[in-house]
Amino acid sequence: MTNVPTFLNYIDGEWCASRTGATFDNLNPADTRDVVGRFQASTQADAQAAVRAAASAFPAWKRLAPGARAKILLDAAAYLELHAARFGEELTREEGKQKALATDEFVRAAQTLRYYAIEAQSYGGETFPTDDPAMMVYTLREPLGVVTVISPWNFPVSIPARKIAPALICGNTVVFKPASDAPLSGLRLTEALVEAGIPRGVLNFVTGSAGAVGPTLVGAREVRAISFTGSTAAGEQIHRAASLSTRTQMELGGKNPLIVLDAHDIELAVELTIKGGFSLAGQACTGTSRVLVAREIRAAFVERLAARTAALVVGSGMQPGVDVGPLATAGQLRTVLDYIEAGKREATLVCGGEQLTQGEFSYGYFVMPTVFVDVPRDARIAREEIFGPVIAVVDVDDYEDAIDVANDSEYGLAAALVTRDTQLMHRFAGDIEAGTVKINRTTTGNLVNAPFGGLKRSSTATFRESGRDGLEFYLQTKTVYRGV
Ligand code: NAP
Repeated sequence: MTNVPTFLNYIDGEWCASRTGATFDNLNPADTRDVVGRFQASTQADAQAAVRAAASAFPAWKRLAPGARAKILLDAAAYLELHAARFGEELTREEGKQKALATDEFVRAAQTLRYYAIEAQSYGGETFPTDDPAMMVYTLREPLGVVTVISPWNFPVSIPARKIAPALICGNTVVFKPASDAPLSGLRLTEALVEAGIPRGVLNFVTGSAGAVGPTLVGAREVRAISFTGSTAAGEQIHRAASLSTRTQMELGGKNPLIVLDAHDIELAVELTIKGGFSLAGQACTGTSRVLVAREIRAAFVERLAARTAALVVGSGMQPGVDVGPLATAGQLRTVLDYIEAGKREATLVCGGEQLTQGEFSYGYFVMPTVFVDVPRDARIAREEIFGPVIAVVDVDDYEDAIDVANDSEYGLAAALVTRDTQLMHRFAGDIEAGTVKINRTTTGNLVNAPFGGLKRSSTATFRESGRDGLEFYLQTKTVYRGV
């Protein structure tokens, strides 16, 4: 436990300790003896200071030329890319995902900053025809004010980047609270923007528990918008707690199905299930969690899936050749093991189903990739988000039955169909209740420049993230009637 670095909040242009001086430890989920860093256990007073700083900085930041705001985002992107390998290693240590994926995440965060730096400069209002030749009518797009950004641990830099970049470029100021289980990557994103010269108070970084800082970040009178990614339970609570004048954007959970109906598609479906279900140890909001398989090909599909699953290498994300890293937190480990026990009662275990506790796994949160078959449609493992390396295979009769099962869910984040039938591809895009529709692709993954979000309880039915749509959330419209 020697040489554990202590990391500070960033409030009103200063790196500072929390008012009480209390800290909490950020542990490596592959080896909990490794303390990645010590972070500020902030209180309500720290959160209030951050909100006040963001409110004071807003008028000047709003007035700053868009080109000047863009330059800061572009310089921050260069900083993230320059340090992507080192920051990626830190991300692996704090969250568990493989080093290559972690480094890519920093590169993607840089792409996001660059995308919004450029895209927002051509995103304006409209002019409207009028019968009165002596009048001009047009809209102005303006920033909202102080925006709270609250992010989860599973993509601790790319998710905050896709919120903070559009917020800032549109002229809003930000208070950013990262997940307590992976705060270092968010700190690096903040550091990049500080190094790029972001003015005092425009971006504030506050670590600490949801219970301590959450009420201020959600309820403060100055907060005009909250962009949150995390669990549906927390998102619904925040959405309800927000005032009438506070906009909310909640990106929440999923129970994402992949459908395969034809024997010709088994090979590809297995590959997509392995990738979508087990990479990131199943901890992607868009991860494949249910596979809906036509009854007549079920045996062949499961045989192939079980063989591929059993061959996956579990281990620390720092080691080359590892396919499945640890679960990111002790809480997540408990949740996944509980679901595995439920699955053993509800269905038939085909492979995996155990925690790894010996040798190199002794101090980490490792679970074997797990597949269940004969899963009843109303089983908990068929309906509830697990967020771990667990696949439920559910039998279906045909395409119509598969769509019924897929849509019989409170969630609607992502869904995939594996098929060579082009007509079915189009039908599927129309029939499926999901915000992200994949055909012959994994349920996971989305582009920086395309809208992203879910239906039903996977998102608020308001604004999409990413792409041009991602700018909408951070702007309000004024309509101007100007007599000449
Ligand atoms: P979580 O427990 O809901 O926490 C997410 C973030 O919200 C953390 O920073 C947490 O702080 C904070 N938080 C929780 N309750 C809060 C409250 N009442 N007020 C203010 N802040 C609050 O979720 P998680 O376990 O980190 O992430 C996993 C979940 O995220 C899964 O359900 C997954 O599906 C979802 N997710 C969705 C998307 C998407 O785009 N739809 C993407 C990724 C993940 P602390 O860390 O301090 O508790």
